[in-house]
Amino acid sequence: MTRGGKERQVKKPLLCMLLLLTLLLSGCAAQSQEQEPEAAATSTATDPNVRTTGTGFYFDTVVTFTLYGADETLLEDLQSACRRYENLLSRTIADSDVGRINAAGGETVTVDPETAEILTRALEISEMTGEAFCVTIAPLTSQWDFSGGSQRMPTDAERLAALPLVDDSKLTVEGNQVALPAGMQIDLGGIAKGYIADELAKMCENRSHGALLNFGGNVYVTGAKPDGSLYRVGVRDPQDTASSLAVVSMGPGTVVTSGVYERCFEKDGVFYHHILDPETGLPAQTDLTSATIVGQSSMDADALATALIVMGKEKALAFCEEKGLDAMLIDGEDQVYCTEGFAEKYSLELAR
Ligand code: ADP
Ligand code: MG
Repeated sequence: MTRGGKERQVKKPLLCMLLLLTLLLSGCAAQSQEQEPEAAATSTATDPNVRTTGTGFYFDTVVTFTLYGADETLLEDLQSACRRYENLLSRTIADSDVGRINAAGGETVTVDPETAEILTRALEISEMTGEAFCVTIAPLTSQWDFSGGSQRMPTDAERLAALPLVDDSKLTVEGNQVALPAGMQIDLGGIAKGYIADELAKMCENRSHGALLNFGGNVYVTGAKPDGSLYRVGVRDPQDTASSLAVVSMGPGTVVTSGVYERCFEKDGVFYHHILDPETGLPAQTDLTSATIVGQSSMDADALATALIVMGKEKALAFCEEKGLDAMLIDGEDQVYCTEGFAEKYSLELAR
């Protein structure tokens, strides 16, 4: 397997790879799950051979749904759920929960139970990762523009002034009450799509035979394909984002990739990307170009994949082994590193 003349190897025992998506799906099968008698009785799924697809633009991301045997209103309901979550969680919508928290100036804000649930988990993951994933990173992220084309970046003085405002230990969530000191703000960009993928996947369970929900770097598959084959999810090649470097074959679950090539720009010969190191306010100095996690919780995988990029290869691999996470990392040379068992578990194929 060569690429650009270089030998690509999977390193042992952890080799693997990944990059984000292009997911092609195919096949399915053997993985069909036992259905609870009750669930079967209430299912509204229709002919599994009928495939329905829909696309939308939510959360600054192209979202694609592929449904097998969906009931009549599932697609519409998934799309309206996306609109509702956008209105709840977007940082740029003033009356969203996040907009209200960020404008509260130190006052306590009452939020939707779902927002409180995401924030509670965000704080747990922040603690688990030593704040490599940091939900109060907004004062820093708002100083950069990685997707709008302006290539805005902070001066050193602006960046240093924002650093003391980034501290997850100051965010409190009690029931549906959220409090943050004046001047501090939150950014759910590294976790919200995962939560939304989990919730939409639940909606598909008794209303379709199988579904593939693609939110850019977050993919969730449920049920099975009509021919019983496994779903095949491509992980993008960081060096050539139009193609896949690896393909993961899997039953129901989620594949989440964070990549430095996702939202980035180059200015004066320097590469800047959207995953910031909360300690410096600069794009994380990392030897990874992408980090992928496969599991059942897309919310956890989303936040953790972002944290793995900040940690860098060595720390990320040790962290995943310690926490029992199935992960695949790609470095700047397109070398793939997997946690133990990942390649076998997901029939990982290198694309070239
Ligand atoms: P994407 O949103 O492109 O799928 P990620 O899940 O990796 O990618 O999330 C990156 C987003 O998370 C950034 O655009 C920003 O909003 C936010 N973010 C950046 N750095 C961090 C960090 N260290 N911790 C938490 N969130 C972050
Ligand atoms: Mg993430």
